[in-house]
Amino acid sequence: MSKLPAFEHTPLEGIASTVGDIRKSFLSHKTRPLEFRLVQLRKLYWGLSDNKELIVEACKQDLGKSSFETYLTEVSWCMNDIVFMTKNLARFAKDESAPDIALTNKLFGPRIRKDPLGTVLIIGAYNFPIQLSIGPLIGAISAGCTAVLKPSESSPNAAAVMQKIIAESLDPSCYTVINGAIPETTALLDQKWDKIFYTGSANVGTIIAKKAAETLTPVTLELGGRNPAIITKHADPRLAARRLLWAKTLNAGQVCVSQNFTMVDKEILPAFLKEMKNALNEFYPQGARQSPDYGRIVNLRQFQRLKKMLDDSSGKIVLGGTMDESDLFIEPTVVQVESLDDSLIKDESFGPLLPVIAVADLDEAIKIANEVHDTPLGVYSFGNKQEMEKVLNQTRSGGASLNDGFFHASIPTLSFGGVGSSGQGAYRGKASFDVFTHRRSVTTTPSWMEGLLDVRYPPYSAAKQKK
Ligand code: NAD
Repeated sequence: MSKLPAFEHTPLEGIASTVGDIRKSFLSHKTRPLEFRLVQLRKLYWGLSDNKELIVEACKQDLGKSSFETYLTEVSWCMNDIVFMTKNLARFAKDESAPDIALTNKLFGPRIRKDPLGTVLIIGAYNFPIQLSIGPLIGAISAGCTAVLKPSESSPNAAAVMQKIIAESLDPSCYTVINGAIPETTALLDQKWDKIFYTGSANVGTIIAKKAAETLTPVTLELGGRNPAIITKHADPRLAARRLLWAKTLNAGQVCVSQNFTMVDKEILPAFLKEMKNALNEFYPQGARQSPDYGRIVNLRQFQRLKKMLDDSSGKIVLGGTMDESDLFIEPTVVQVESLDDSLIKDESFGPLLPVIAVADLDEAIKIANEVHDTPLGVYSFGNKQEMEKVLNQTRSGGASLNDGFFHASIPTLSFGGVGSSGQGAYRGKASFDVFTHRRSVTTTPSWMEGLLDVRYPPYSAAKQKK
């Protein structure tokens, strides 16, 4: 395996001209032919494949991710998305004829062309650094856009590896990576874009949306959310515990769709907590700290934020609770909380903290879910079929998994996105193509119809009005 490339900030003074060059390439129409896009996608596939060991090492350095998780959620994830897109691109890109039209309108050949939006900016988040940057890029390439990628500086090794892969694999006049933090992102936001695709926190999402609004630039925002999980008294406590613990220990809980808090029917709470303990022992027989399968918090700032959340909580730690700042380790920690004002419920933890709150029944759980965040990124429910359906009927969220934590997000052909304050717009599967595409309505008026069309021209004589 070659050495990890170094993370370097892109010089600020070069950003405007780099973006200008990428725009010029779009305007040269180079990215329009499908063959060009397919070649770029295939090259990206092989770039990822050739560098998979470097990606694994980068994710290990940045987040302590196990190679299993990196293959599952980063490398294979993106490679499979490319295979899906290359197989289906011609179908997605084909013109659509206007549906349900009268015979007379058919003569104008009304159709929808799938035009690329233009030159797009993709800003990624740190937690799945490859997937959340390369995933949207796959969509941008497929749609025929040119693109600049700004990965998260909080996962610097992954950002540097992506810069290498993209520079070595793709047409450099059409796609490039700009690395850096707030100054570089701010300089990027000062450029002209045809779309900004942002993944990250709602606070920064607001900055991006405000800036984009100044030039009426469209945005797709993939934000966070305080996702509730609901367990009714009819749920299987062992199954719910294992599935929810997995959803909070993958990537050490740094997953936008994992549950932020779990409401459990008071009747089943003791059994659920017991099964949580069993599941933790089964997942990590030597303890999470010793396990090569359990990750670390991305940096000291995030570690201290999580520590403060736990310190500020008035809940009772029922499982876990150990931390080590020197290693950025936080044990999966289950906390029984009493109040909705608890620090662990009020904010998104984005880490391996699992607050659990007892509820009287499903109605109370649904009421709380809607009060805490009326439009989270995900909702998860465990119970009988009617109960899980009731949760869907009485809540809103970007997506939902029944009888599981966030499984919906792993289905490659389901579109993924938030709703309300958890985001706007969606991608993955066909949605990745659509999100960077303009549906351009076109008609062609045959010359021979001029005689028939005469009726539309003034003067609107009485004879014409009779027709
Ligand atoms: P973040 O907002 O700190 O950073 C994301 C990106 O924004 C980075 O590339 C960063 O350089 C840039 N950025 C940061 N501050 C900026 C500023 N002031 N101006 C311009 N750009 C700036 O987000 P994060 O900490 O990387 O990710 C955590 C959050 O993202 C959580 O809320 C999580 O739920 C959310 N998230 C959402 C999804 C999703 O798909 N919906 C996926 C992952 C993470």
